[in-house]
Amino acid sequence: MEGLMMNFPLTLQPILRRARDIYPKNEIVTRLADGGVHRYTYGEFYQRVLRLMDALRRAGVKPGDRVATFAWNRYQHMELYYAIPCLGAVLHTLNIRLSTEQLVYTINHAEDRFIFVDDVLTDQLLAVQDECPQVERFVVIAEQGAAADCGLRAQEDYEAFLAGGEPVEDFPDLDENAACAMCYTSGTTGNPKGALYSHRSLYLHSMCVTMADTMALSQYDIVLPIVPMFHVNCWGIPFAAVMTGATIVYPGQNPQAADLVGLIQNEKVTLSAGVPTIWNMVGQYVDQHGGDLSSLQRVVCGGSAVPRALMQKYEDDYGVTIIQLWGMTELSPLGTVSRIKRHMREWPRERQYEYRLKQGIPVPGVEVRIEDEAGALQPWDGEHMGELVVRGAWVIRDYYRMEGGASAFKADGWFGTGDVARMDGEGYMQITDRVKDLIKSGGEWISSVDMENLLMAHPDVVEAAVVARPDAKWDERPVAFVVPADGRADALTADSVREWLGSEFAQWQLPYADDVHTIDAIPKTSVGKMDKKVLRRRFD
Ligand code: AMP
Repeated sequence: MEGLMMNFPLTLQPILRRARDIYPKNEIVTRLADGGVHRYTYGEFYQRVLRLMDALRRAGVKPGDRVATFAWNRYQHMELYYAIPCLGAVLHTLNIRLSTEQLVYTINHAEDRFIFVDDVLTDQLLAVQDECPQVERFVVIAEQGAAADCGLRAQEDYEAFLAGGEPVEDFPDLDENAACAMCYTSGTTGNPKGALYSHRSLYLHSMCVTMADTMALSQYDIVLPIVPMFHVNCWGIPFAAVMTGATIVYPGQNPQAADLVGLIQNEKVTLSAGVPTIWNMVGQYVDQHGGDLSSLQRVVCGGSAVPRALMQKYEDDYGVTIIQLWGMTELSPLGTVSRIKRHMREWPRERQYEYRLKQGIPVPGVEVRIEDEAGALQPWDGEHMGELVVRGAWVIRDYYRMEGGASAFKADGWFGTGDVARMDGEGYMQITDRVKDLIKSGGEWISSVDMENLLMAHPDVVEAAVVARPDAKWDERPVAFVVPADGRADALTADSVREWLGSEFAQWQLPYADDVHTIDAIPKTSVGKMDKKVLRRRFD
């Protein structure tokens, strides 16, 4: 049609090329385990991405193929973030905290052809490789030098793999609606569900991350993404940072509070992102050992509710503004951001906090509504609660290859988040509960239902319930209530319960010994369902 706009495909390719042309000297820094850092420029990054694309092409990777990563936040991971999608293949970031069972399920469900794995994480893949026969090759990333042979099938060293490619600028034509990346949510009962992002959705999400009213990520920033690259695209930061030319500082493997504080100080980090657990740890560290956070202008924090004490402490003690976000794997993840509106700027702090501690206003590109159980829309009056239902440019339409579909996707095209929330007259959303009874510990999910099911399979247990209790360090921890079978109360110790759960749950997911309680009966609701509210009240 005459006079209309160009149909410029919104893909990661122009994002990458812009960094080559405009910001070739800007840096990407990665913390190394020996206390040093690796640094190189966007220009060097670009050349290595080209090589990697060529090496992947020569290895037979075709458009649409799933290529997985199992890695910490580091520059090699970011090379994969671009090379795989720019070739038309799909970047599948595997969550390194999944249990063995979930890991096998996820790799096989996605039909990953290759897995790029950090050398410090190979044990977890050694344990599952026999159950994932379709994985053709494991490429091992060493922090420095070449990766040693560790017994993975068809193992190859990352640098050797890269050297097999040439830095040729051979960008295939991509449809902006083609698949770009995928991430499985562990925030569900039963098997993880796949969210498949398109180039277009990630391009638009990246633009949103750079908006002044959201994270305001820009070329002026030195950004430290602490949120893992295996968790919802690291909240979109690796894409938005390259789009804007921001300096990126990756925390490397298994970073501790001291490492993070060191990076903030030495690299003069201006913006960082992570779950409340991380910021609690960093604050405690600084209070005990000292540390200079003065370069930090703002911290974006979400994944769990930001506690008031945390927001206030960062402001009072370090002069750092915490901005709360709400998002989900299904939303790529950005949904709402809690910044105060213009007319609130003169308000007393107390009144501002009422809003800043809510999950925030919907970002442009995402629309929200509140529905009651019958699907009726609820007023935005700060009182009526219901399920938070959303739609938008980076919300998934369906889960990846899910048999039978999912009830979360409504007939009229909206997605039910499973969060219970209310909207106020200013348009701020506040989460009040979860429809699903999950536990979120240190930013990662633990399914209470899955844990109950396993507990109830224990020969000495007749009934069990698992709820979350608030935890200063991890936000939430699981608490198990077990009803012993007749005459078995003595045999049912906390240690034996933990050992039993350890057969299917990862160590970090297990309830602490003090959090395993033996009780006479699980409280029930009028319709005979477990009444977890009563159990939770113990922790109020
Ligand atoms: P995930 O898909 O693992 O990122 O988890 C998404 C879920 O985390 C949401 O559905 C919420 O239940 C929870 N969540 C995310 N951000 C917040 C927040 N700022 N406050 C409270 N809960 C949050």
